[in-house]
Amino acid sequence: MLTYGTEMSIRSAAPNRRYFVFLLVLFLASSCKRATTAEFISIKDPVIALKHVRVIDGSGGPAREDQTIIIESGRITAVGPTAEISVPASANSLDLSGHTAMPGLVGMHNHLFYTTDGGDRDVPAGDSFAPLYLATGVTTIRTAGALNLSAEQAVKSSVDRGELAGPKIHLSSPYMDKAVGESVNPEKVTELINQWADEGVTSLKIYENISRSDMGSIIEAAHKRGLKVTGHVCAMGFVEAAQAGVDNLEHGLTVDTEFFSQKKSGECPGRNAWVTELTRTDVKSERVQAMIRELVNRRVAVTSTLAIFETFVTEKFELDSRMRDVLEDDAFADCGTYLAKRKADHRWSRVWEAMLRKEMEFEREFVKAGGLLMTGVDPTGWGGVIAGFGDQRGVELLVEAGFSAEEAIRIATLNGATFLGEDSRIGTLANGKQADIVIVRGNPAANMRDLRNVQIVFKDGIGYDPAKLIESVRGSVGQ
Ligand SMILES: [Zn+2]
Repeated sequence: MLTYGTEMSIRSAAPNRRYFVFLLVLFLASSCKRATTAEFISIKDPVIALKHVRVIDGSGGPAREDQTIIIESGRITAVGPTAEISVPASANSLDLSGHTAMPGLVGMHNHLFYTTDGGDRDVPAGDSFAPLYLATGVTTIRTAGALNLSAEQAVKSSVDRGELAGPKIHLSSPYMDKAVGESVNPEKVTELINQWADEGVTSLKIYENISRSDMGSIIEAAHKRGLKVTGHVCAMGFVEAAQAGVDNLEHGLTVDTEFFSQKKSGECPGRNAWVTELTRTDVKSERVQAMIRELVNRRVAVTSTLAIFETFVTEKFELDSRMRDVLEDDAFADCGTYLAKRKADHRWSRVWEAMLRKEMEFEREFVKAGGLLMTGVDPTGWGGVIAGFGDQRGVELLVEAGFSAEEAIRIATLNGATFLGEDSRIGTLANGKQADIVIVRGNPAANMRDLRNVQIVFKDGIGYDPAKLIESVRGSVGQ
């Protein structure tokens, strides 16, 4: 998660009173009726043919015109030029001229909570984010830090049981942090990690105050249980974290403190000073390039979170109008109030504008050097970005950063799948893969904004109606 402008404070994951109210509501709702996803399904047939569709396959290769995809029992069994693909007689055939098929997005920093009240309050998303992710074409997520693990496990279970429409969910641990000045207790850490692993967590999220000296026991315990370790680091620079064995670094250069002239070893400096200084750092300089090489050589992936950074450029930022439909009234009003107040804060807005450009440059250099870049929404900050809509915006921003449309889509699909070890099953449109396919009207290869025109989202070959999914969460985000 990220906060704006102010000095970073350690976020407590302690459940608040609203959370208990939420649990109570969840309990009552679950005891009253068993929900079902059937009402959101628009296409469900044993054999489906998607004909005359443009394909952006997620590999990074160029878009291909007039293709046909065959889906059988939830898997892709053929994809190729329409003229060469034989369509089984039993198929439900859809003529998708004017549409584009691409793999479902793999969102790698996709929380199941939202930050509201101008950044002061984190609220569990309850059942609102899962349908939103699916509606916008995000078919797989990694949560990259849990606000409340049991609530997020409940969401995953509902999705897995087919009671809640949502993406395939890879659970991450709660934020592992420590109080400033304290040390990490290796036995306690191992115990926690084992407990989380037993509960189905597949990645560990470490947070700002964890330092290089804490990392040995954390990484060892996590890797022993097959967990990948990802960090939003601060007390550690990226090179230190890479050398300590971290698998993934969140947010990119923007949170790397190692270039700050006043950085003290093992301490997370106040953010304003180092971000300001970082905007003047040359990405092509030897020291930044050496950091990039270290990450690439040690196969440390980076998660791009451009959509959340853009919300800090408050002078220019405009709220996605679609948020009006899904945010609860007060939460929507809070966004407007916050943004109006911050529009006049030219100084910080301009620091963040420069930082956003710097981050984009870093991400291009990282990929150019052979690094594995992935993307995710991070629906935190002051609440200016939410599940799904923000994922789409993140891909648009990758194109603004200078990636080709096909590269941007690869970053948002195959690269995340590769990191998760799921690339033999998802991440590209290819024979034998699970049929997680997004159909959009238009051509994202020419205009990435078309990514917003999602018409059908297939998850394991079942087609969902995005409009109905969005309608089902109307007014419920941020409650
Ligand atoms: Zn986050």
